[in-house]
Amino acid sequence: MIIKLKKEATDSEINAIIARVESLLCTVEPMKGSTRTILGVLGNTATIDEKTISVLDGVSSVSRITAPYKLVSREYQKENSVIKVGNVLFGQGDLCVIAGPCSVESEEQLDLTTKYIKQTRANLLRGGIVKPRTSPYAFQGLEEKGLELMEAARAKYDLPIVCELMTVDQVERFGPRLDLIQIGARNMQNFDLLKACGKVDTPILLKRGLCATIEEWLMSAEYISASGNKNIILCERGIRTFETAYRNVTDLNAIPFIKSLTHLPIIVDSSHSTGIDWMAEPVAKAALAVGADGLMLETHYKPSIALSDGPQSLDEQQFKQAMNSITRLYDFLAADEK
Ligand code: PEP
Ligand code: MN
Repeated sequence: MIIKLKKEATDSEINAIIARVESLLCTVEPMKGSTRTILGVLGNTATIDEKTISVLDGVSSVSRITAPYKLVSREYQKENSVIKVGNVLFGQGDLCVIAGPCSVESEEQLDLTTKYIKQTRANLLRGGIVKPRTSPYAFQGLEEKGLELMEAARAKYDLPIVCELMTVDQVERFGPRLDLIQIGARNMQNFDLLKACGKVDTPILLKRGLCATIEEWLMSAEYISASGNKNIILCERGIRTFETAYRNVTDLNAIPFIKSLTHLPIIVDSSHSTGIDWMAEPVAKAALAVGADGLMLETHYKPSIALSDGPQSLDEQQFKQAMNSITRLYDFLAADEK
């Protein structure tokens, strides 16, 4: 971190700034120029909020050299993190596809859907048991009953299970029964929830907030990591822009960019990022081409009667065709890398 001082900064102001920085357990290296002084701040500057320094008397501006996140940064750990979810490894080049309905609705719905998922190379099962719905009158999820159905599907089809959780209490009660806890876009900055995720052993799938910057997203991952859980997978699920033609805009730039900043794996959910069934496949393939470590796809045996996200859910035929095309591209890219 660099603190640029005002030309007229007095010695007593400079001493007060140094004392403040040192109280935050960092050291200061003053560099005296001909017209003004610059203070170089060394140590774990992640603990310093630059805004609290920038308002001190004598300070002209404060800028960071290193990112405000530490544990999740590529600087802290050079090698990719490989995150194990059930028997699936994210982040080492394997094909990882999380598929399933938006919501768990009934035993029949989950069974009919999982049956054909299992016939493809999709290797994790998703299903919402608590739903973050815009309307309080929309289907809110089956909760405990939904989780029991997911557990039964895991046992029957031998697929790790992924469910979104929305409260600290749910993370504590349901978290240990899941193979991967999803933190949804709307809760990406629910800091108490992130801290609770840091205290369980289950890996976390952290979705990007609707309007979150890359830095805010990585700071949320830092919360989980700093609270003790290092098993984090990021998920780009589209961001809001001025465009209204489709539900969200898939930020594919984020995939290679974020890999330069963090060692964590990142996957793309092209169902929520597009909101349109036939767009999920081409955008998923684009995601693989730019280096995504996995995909999420919503599928329902009968999207027309789905209780949530029907318009973006692939039916059996669309899903099988999408998986066929996705796996052909995956195999091509994997062979090309060898
Ligand atoms: C979902 O996965 O069903 C969901 C609600 O996702 P998001 O948080 O990305 O909107
Ligand atoms: Mn959904």
